[in-house]
Order: sequence, then structure tokens, then C-alpha cells
Amino acid sequence: MNRSLAELEAIIRNRVCKVCTERTVDGECGLEDPSICALFRLFPQVAEAIQSVDSNDITEYINSIRLRVCTVCSDLEPDGSCAQRQQVRCALDAYLILVVDAIEEATGKTFNKSNILSAGAPIELRPKPQIQL
Ligand code: SF4
Ligand code: SF4
Repeated sequence: MNRSLAELEAIIRNRVCKVCTERTVDGECGLEDPSICALFRLFPQVAEAIQSVDSNDITEYINSIRLRVCTVCSDLEPDGSCAQRQQVRCALDAYLILVVDAIEEATGKTFNKSNILSAGAPIELRPKPQIQL
């Protein structure tokens, strides 16, 4: 994919931050320390994961994100579990469908998302991410 890191971040911020429950009425990130948001704390790895794939199958992008991002995230436990994910506190995971939308925008592709939606609750039904400091 021929997108710069800055372009990808802008596309994903536009999709995700715009609807994130942590966003303030002023349009800013409401976290006391916005740099702890895993989605953007690990954004170079997120971008690398997306850019390393060229496929019409969205699961390949998602697998790549899990492989390249979660494996270097300090929240991942040695047994492969993640309390942040389980407790819907990771914006990358909680807003994965929107990240997929952003990947579509960045790649110009349209993916079959039915298998993603069936794997979890639709995004609007998910609880508010409780991202802690
Ligand atoms: S928590 Fe993350 S996704 Fe939500 S507004 Fe802040 S930076 Fe954006
Ligand atoms: S799901 Fe867990 S391991 Fe993966 S990026 Fe989010 S906090 Fe890190």
C-alpha cells in the first residue's frame, strides 16, 4: 500500500477518534495521557501491519495487526491473553471494525466484513472502552 505513516494515521484518527467515547466535545482525546491509547501508542506497528499485506481478505490484515502489534504490546501476557482486550479497554481492539473501514479507505478495497461482525458484538453495542492510566 502506497500510503505514508502520516496519511494512514490521519485516516484512522478520522475514523476512530471521531466516534471514540473518550473524545471530548472539543474534539480532543479525553484521556489524561492520550499517548497511552494502544492504537496510536503502537501506530508504527499498526501501519506496518497494514502495509505488509496486499489481500482482498480482511482477516489477513487483522491477523497481521494481531501478530505485529499485540506481540510487542506491553499489555500482552506471556500466555497470550490480554486483560485490556478482555475488558474492552484497548481502542485498537474495541474499534477494530472502524480500523477496517480505514483500511478500506486507504487501500481502495471493499472487504467482506460479515465474518468480523459475527466474531463479536457490533461496535455500537460494545461497552465504552475504559482505558486506564
Ligand atoms: S482514546 Fe485513542 S481512539 Fe479514543 S480519542 Fe483518544 S487517541 Fe483517539
Ligand atoms: S489487544 Fe491488548 S495486546 Fe493487543 S494492542 Fe490492545 S492492549 Fe495491546
